[in-house]
Amino acid sequence: MSSTVSTLRPATANPATRPALTDALIDAVRAKAEAARALLSAATAELGNQGEITFANSFGAEDMVLTDLILANRLPIEIFSLDTGRLPAETYTLIGEVEKRYATRLKIYFPESGAVEDFVRGNGINAFYDSVELCKACCQVRKIAPLKRALTGKKAWVTGLRAAQSVTRTGLPLRELDAGNGLDKFNPLSDWSETEVWAYIRLHDVPYNALHDQFYPSIGCAPCTRAIALGEDVRAGRWWWENPETKECGLHVSEGKA
Ligand code: SF4
Repeated sequence: MSSTVSTLRPATANPATRPALTDALIDAVRAKAEAARALLSAATAELGNQGEITFANSFGAEDMVLTDLILANRLPIEIFSLDTGRLPAETYTLIGEVEKRYATRLKIYFPESGAVEDFVRGNGINAFYDSVELCKACCQVRKIAPLKRALTGKKAWVTGLRAAQSVTRTGLPLRELDAGNGLDKFNPLSDWSETEVWAYIRLHDVPYNALHDQFYPSIGCAPCTRAIALGEDVRAGRWWWENPETKECGLHVSEGKA
């Protein structure tokens, strides 16, 4: 495994985060934002408006669009986040900005300290680099177990996944049954492009992770995320030492996938 950051990355700020706001793009984003808002509103009408639906906010660009859609429209959807203990400093800075901007306190779930201690003592502080199995085991302790707690008692959860993000997300529907967690899953941005995501962020002046400007289109834990080169797949910087087909941490793995 090599943890070397690509040398093909240019020194300029990532142009993908600043698309040209043409009239056609603005119209498309407005229409998609309204469709996403309507989907979420209908979901709360169907499933409940007392916290039955929860949004898993990982503070990526897509999740910042959903955060703004939910909070600006006062949709009765709970928002939670997972702090794995290995997040980049820029993500913690963003969490503080979001709490200030929207005058809210975010609900953050942490891993069980004893489980993390056991994993690190048994396998090493950076064991995720050593094998796919240890990578999945680390995600299990730091992400999956806290996610299970966050989803307990819920009827549905919302994600910022997009179909175009990776081969593991091709054909992603707006709504699906999450059989593994036993509840519905809504993906309101399934058909959005990266350009549309950034157009929404610029149009609404939504706060975002500073790493996006440094060619990190997808941001997770610091040791498992790197910048990408121009032309690389947007998920190429996540678990870059693994095959594309196995690059999901288990939060969004569908039946039949690794
Ligand atoms: S992304 Fe990396 S550090 Fe974070 S939980 Fe998964 S394996 Fe562990």
